[in-house]
Amino acid sequence: MRFRAKLNVHFDGAFNVGSGTMGGSLAQRPMLTDWRGLPMVPASSFKGRLRHTCKQLAEAMGQETCDDPVAEAMCQPGEDERFCPICRLFGSPWLESPLTFTDLTLMEPAFLAEARTPPRTSLRYGVGLSRRRRVAQDQLLYTTEVFLPGGTVTLKGEISGQLDDRDLGLLVAGLENLLALGGGKTSGMGWCELEFELYRIEDDGSETLLSADDVRRRWLS
Ligand SMILES: [Zn+2]
Repeated sequence: MRFRAKLNVHFDGAFNVGSGTMGGSLAQRPMLTDWRGLPMVPASSFKGRLRHTCKQLAEAMGQETCDDPVAEAMCQPGEDERFCPICRLFGSPWLESPLTFTDLTLMEPAFLAEARTPPRTSLRYGVGLSRRRRVAQDQLLYTTEVFLPGGTVTLKGEISGQLDDRDLGLLVAGLENLLALGGGKTSGMGWCELEFELYRIEDDGSETLLSADDVRRRWLS
């Protein structure tokens, strides 16, 4: 079925979706911003996080998935080879994903979304621990650029595509179980709450609101 999921992601507190590069920031983990200079979550990061959540769910329910990110351990086309649900949803080197993700961009609060000047960010200092010696090491000191809005910030995005009912059910279960986005999960940053509305796109282009409960049940039926 053709579908569209409208997403609202609420962040409460500091968050950072780092680019992993030094570009234009003092922080070693600078925050990604959109064309307005506002914090954003790129489509690729969101997709990666959702893929990870769906894979955990599928495995928890005893469904076999392949071993990413090593390409040769992933499902490959062949005589008997069938693609696992994660490859069918998110794609692989051999299979194009039927899903399109947009970036998650800031919608609320309005005063920020309409601001002419991007909001200030702060640097947060973290200390990496040596796994072996369990002590702080000077060379592991890092800085993370975080956004501290002092209230809830809502980012908006969309997933659309075409899936059969069961695969759409797994995607819905993944959306319902996604708890954190961005970097710094272990340091208490980046927790989020995700709300979504799911629509079936009919042949004439009109949209019908679907119940997430009904769709999720089809995954396990
Ligand atoms: Zn696979």
